[in-house]
Parts: sequence; structure tokens; C-alpha cells
Amino acid sequence: MNNHSHLLTSLNPAQRQAVLCSDGPVLILAGAGSGKTRVLTHRVAYLLEQKGVKPWQILAVTFTNKAANEMKERILQLSNGGGREAWIGTFHSICARILRAEAERLGYGKNFLIFDREDQKRFIKNVMNELNVSEKDFQPEAILNAISGAKNAFVSSSEYQAIAKAPFEYTVARIYPLYQSLLKQNNVMDFDDLLVNPLFLFQQYPEVLEHYQNKFSYILVDEFQDTNRTQYIFLKYLSGRHKNLCVVGDDDQAIYRWRGADIQNILSLEKDFPECKIFHLEQNYRSTRSILNAANSIVKNNQFRREKTLWTEKEDGEKVTILELDDAFSEALTIIGVIKDELVENGRNFSDFAILYRTNAQSRVLEDALRQAAIPYVVVGSVKFYERKEIKDVLAYLRLICNANDSISFKRVINFPLRGIGDASVLKLEEFAKAHAISLLAAAARVEEVNAIAPRIRKSIFEFQQLIAKYASLRRELSAGELAQTLVDEIGILRAFKEINTEESFSRMENVRELLLAIANYAKSNKGSNLETFLEEVALLTDIDTWDDQSNAVTLMTLHSAKGLEFPVVFITGLEEGLFPLSRTFDDIADLEEERRLFYVGTTRAQEKLFISWAAVRPRFGDSFHNLPSRFLKELDPQFIERKNLRRLYHFRSEKPVAEEMVKNEEDDLRDGYSQIVLGGEVKHELFGVGKVIKLEGRGENMKVNVRFYDVGEKRLVVKYANLEVLH
Ligand code: ATP
Ligand code: MG
Repeated sequence: MNNHSHLLTSLNPAQRQAVLCSDGPVLILAGAGSGKTRVLTHRVAYLLEQKGVKPWQILAVTFTNKAANEMKERILQLSNGGGREAWIGTFHSICARILRAEAERLGYGKNFLIFDREDQKRFIKNVMNELNVSEKDFQPEAILNAISGAKNAFVSSSEYQAIAKAPFEYTVARIYPLYQSLLKQNNVMDFDDLLVNPLFLFQQYPEVLEHYQNKFSYILVDEFQDTNRTQYIFLKYLSGRHKNLCVVGDDDQAIYRWRGADIQNILSLEKDFPECKIFHLEQNYRSTRSILNAANSIVKNNQFRREKTLWTEKEDGEKVTILELDDAFSEALTIIGVIKDELVENGRNFSDFAILYRTNAQSRVLEDALRQAAIPYVVVGSVKFYERKEIKDVLAYLRLICNANDSISFKRVINFPLRGIGDASVLKLEEFAKAHAISLLAAAARVEEVNAIAPRIRKSIFEFQQLIAKYASLRRELSAGELAQTLVDEIGILRAFKEINTEESFSRMENVRELLLAIANYAKSNKGSNLETFLEEVALLTDIDTWDDQSNAVTLMTLHSAKGLEFPVVFITGLEEGLFPLSRTFDDIADLEEERRLFYVGTTRAQEKLFISWAAVRPRFGDSFHNLPSRFLKELDPQFIERKNLRRLYHFRSEKPVAEEMVKNEEDDLRDGYSQIVLGGEVKHELFGVGKVIKLEGRGENMKVNVRFYDVGEKRLVVKYANLEVLH
């Protein structure tokens, strides 16, 4: 069998048609698990093998690095290695690659750095200071979000100025241009600039646009429903000449509206490319019939969607199980019980399981329980290795070595490890730098001229500058791994952590070692790499990339991270009003529909078994909330679900305790101090202050009270979690 027939026989007729229709614009709009990603990878292999397209003429884009790597692997496999030189990556990495080559035209250096959110916030604060905008009036985070939103909608600072109409927007309009020029001064781009700057480039330099338009004869995009305006325009530009743009997506899985994704792009595509061929795939290959039908019964509650059919040849399978639980802790224990049963009875691996949740904070209880049960697990996203302080400190050194203009990194490490250089001295150095229009590092080289700084400190600053200069010149002679290792040795931070000699400092030491290992491994496995490319890679890491899917472990992640993935057994936790759907979404139908799509994404990750849980009590923001089950649970078609009520503790109203239990409860009450809480008594709560107990219910662990707090009014609390102090 030659590759040609092999490529096509593993597809169903609709999928095959979509692959064969290789020229001209194509939109593949289809439900979850219908083989969209599969069509995309087969299409690339088909272009390479059958159409004689060269790999470097192909651009394939998706949203996470993980998805991009998976795509790359699948394409390499299908094309027997033929696709190695295709451009396959995330929007951000593809744009960064173009900008690396062209940034100078826009007034940046080629070695520009990429800022993460924390760095961005610091710049915003700088500008706010300069403009005398108080953080009491406007939150830097909110301003940053507004600017980011504008960039994702391809609204420049001058355009923003023209359309601002509320006080907050006027403030943003003043900050936006200054923030932008501060970035440029420091030779830095933020994440959004990576997407926006190529568009400016294409607008200002038609010959550059033409070059890339000619180069990419075939462009393919996965998860198209989550592209924002800027990304859409980018695609439109690049496909302008050949018009071989193939996008796949599912409007029911659009979950990034809050980050500027625009589902209207699907409509725009049909308008901008009237000759666009549309394909629908209707067979789902991923899930059992029960799971698929349950998922369909949810999403059909959305008003704003395109109707579509999705069916499966698979068997019914087990019904979807709804677990009703007392609290987050029993939720975790119940999930662990199911995992253990499945391991024994169905011979599964740990890696067959995924536990999904709406908010990151939900992972901690699950993690604790998994650890105690000795079940290996990985948390996607929460590890955030590269956001730890010690890691950022070392990275700041490396950034400064690569980019002398990086004032943020300069300030981060000028006194790390301690060199006796205080903020006041740095401020004076900054004034000098400003007066001479030079970078902080250049100012440090001339620190002798800054008389306002004490001679001893001048010496330290000068030594620091010499250190950085030395490594900057060694950069071309040493590998990235050697350079980082030597630098860390020279500045002695490992030793410093060791001297502190606490558990925390040891873990920091381990983290820095881990970083050195990561750099060394990176240098080894990426030919032609250097420190800059490593730093770029780090800056582009998204949450999903910390996931080591090779290890045999249960996966924990947010529903957003689970997009595009599949697992034999899936748990979706925390189906409670206020948590999922998240409470901010109650008033806005569009927000609520997005939450529902997110639930749909979660349910359609499951291949064989799906468990959905809700807990009556869940501590949030340090307080306990008494929850109602999520409205989404009522929307699930009862035919395809089975409810398991595992609630025991909080059924005090309907269940009268037997005498024996009453005695036991009395004892518990005395031991735990519950009995000290009496009707009419005063109690104190950490957050709410002092109040009077106006209602008591249940006993012992189950005891709940209504307290009328003098400051904040009536609250209903579970005594066990509320940590009340009895005043009398
Ligand atoms: P999502 O909407 O979640 O991104 P998708 O539409 O991209 O899903 P894929 O991930 O491509 O779907 O496919 C889902 C599963 O079905 C995969 O395991 C894939 O290998 C399998 N599959 C798809 N098409 C076929 C087919 N024709 N024959 C066998 N298996 C298939
Ligand atoms: Mg997919």
C-alpha cells in the first residue's frame, strides 16, 4: 500500500473529501471528536506527499505549544519525516519567528525580549506614576487588561484615544502610548505585541507582506473558533495571495471570548472568502453514545449556535455518573475511590484519568488527597516553574546579559544576591541614566560620574556592571548551559540558599539546579540554539507545557487547558452555582453560554466514562459556601445520567439522628467546643467581625448557624469551617 492510499483509507468519506479539497479556502465546521485535528494533519501529509508542496511552504497554527507539538509529531509520522521544515506552531511562536527576522524595521532590536504579565504590570505602574494616576483610583491590572483587549482587537493607541469615552478609558488612552514607547525603549514586546506587530509590519512594508504571502502557499488553522480579531487579520493577510486557507473549528467549543476571541470570525471568513468551501463532519469517534448524548443535551440549551448533528457508532457505554457530595474533601475521596476501582477492575493506568475543574484553586484539596492516597498526579498549569522567584531572578540575569537595555531585569538583580545597593542609589542611577538618555547598565558603567551615590556603593554598582559585561562577551564562546552554570557559580546563589538552611531555601536551591539542567538539556537537544532562543522559549511557555504526559500519572487541569485533548475516564468537579457557571456570569447571557460551552468541552473530553460532581460545601476565599447544584446538571438529559447521592453529613433537616448518635454527638460537641455556641450568644469571625447567633441547626460537624454580623449583616455558616470565636 502506498502512502497515498494509506493516508486516505484511515478517513471517513467526509473527512477524505475535506483532505482532497486542497486548494482554495476551506472551512471545516464540526463537533467535538469528529476528527478535525485528524483531518488537518492528514491534509498536511497529503499536500507534502501528493501535491509536491515543499514543507517550508506550509504554515500550520494552533493555540497551545502542546497541541502544536502533537500536531508536529503526527505530521512527521504521517509524512515519514517529510514535514520537518514546515512552520508548525502557536500563533505567538510563529509571529515571534517572523518578528525575529524583521523587528528592526519596526524600531526594535533583533534580540528583543518578551515580557510576561508580571513585568508588564511593573511597566504599567511606572507609567501610572509618571502620569500621577493613583492606584487607588485605577487598578494597574484593569488598565493592562484594557490595553491587552485593545491590541487583541487590533486597536492602536491613537485609535483608542479617539474612541475612549468614559473616565477609565480616558486614563487608559493616556497610559497606552507611553506604555508602548517604554516597551520599545527597553527593546521588549509583550505577548499581545507579538500578534499585533506583524500586522503593523505588513501594513508598513508591503514587500515584507508579499514575501510571506508568497512563501506560505498553504495555511492551516486548528481551533479556529478561538482566534481573536488580530489573529484573524494576520491569517487574512498571509493567505491573501494563494488563498489556500484551511481552518477547522467548532463554534460550540469557543471558550476564549473573555480573552478577545471572536466567534464572528467564522462569519467574516465566509464574507472575506466567498468561494470558501464548507465541510461538516458528523461522526464522533471519541466518546460512547451516553457521553455524547449527554454532552449534546447540554449544548443545545445555548441559543446562539449553529445547529449540528453529531453521532457515534460506539456502544452506549455506562451512563454519565453525577456524584452528589457533602464537601470538596469527600469529592476528592470519592474520585480516588473510583480511580482505585477502575485500576483494579478495568486494568487502567493512572494516565487514563483526568480531573477537570473551573478554577485553579480547586486543585489543592484534590492534590492533598491524591498525595495521601499515594496516587501519582500532575497538575497542568499550577506548577508554573518559571514564575518562581528564584527562577525569575536567574532568568533576569540571563536576560540582562542578552539585552543591555532591559531595565526591569537590571533592577531585579542589581541587589541580588545582596550587594548593599539600596533603592535610593538605584533611583539616583536612574536619574543619571535618564539625563544622559542611556540604559541603566550603561549608566552603571559610568557610575563614577554619579557623585550623589556613596563611593562604596559606586564600587559595587561598577562591579555588577563588569560582571554582566563579562558574561555578555562570553555569550558567543560558551553554550547557554555552560554560561548559566558559570554565572550561577560566580554569583554564589546556591551557596547562599544553602547557608540559609531552611526547607524553603533548599527547595529554591533545587529549583535553580533544575533550571540549569533545563538550560543544558535545551542546548543539547536544539542545534543552533543559544541563550536568546532559550529565553524566548521560556517566555512563550504556556501552562499546558509543564505537563509531562509521558509519566503515568493522573492529570489535573482547568477545563480551559483540556481543549483538544481526550482521556478514557474524565471527572468534572465543582458543578455548583457560582463556581460553574462562575458567578460573574449570571447576568450576561453571552457569558453564561460561554460557561455552558466550557462544560461541553469538558464532557466531550471523555472517551469511556464520565463523572460529574458537586459538593454542598466548598471553602472559597477562605470561607465556606453552602452551594446549590449547578443549573447545568438540570440540563443534562436524565436518560443518559445516573445520580449517586453520597451526601451524609448535611441532611440534618430530613434525617432525625437515632438516640445513640445523639449521645455521640453530645460528646463530640463538648469535645469540639460546638456546644459553646448558643442562640443569642455573640461570636467573632475573622472576616465578618462580631455578630449575634440568631439560628442554630444540626449538631457537631453538621452544625450550621445564622449570625447577624453588626457590620455585614446576616450570614449562614458551617461551624466546622467558619472558625468562630465564642465571645460569651
Ligand atoms: P476536538 O473538537 O475535541 O478538538 P477533533 O474534532 O479535533 O476533536 P480529533 O481529536 O481529530 O477530533 O479526533 C478524535 C478521536 O477520534 C481521535 O482519537 C482520532 O484519532 C479519532 N478519529 C477521528 N477520525 C477517525 C477515523 N476516521 N477513524 C478512526 N478514528 C478516528
Ligand atoms: Mg481537535
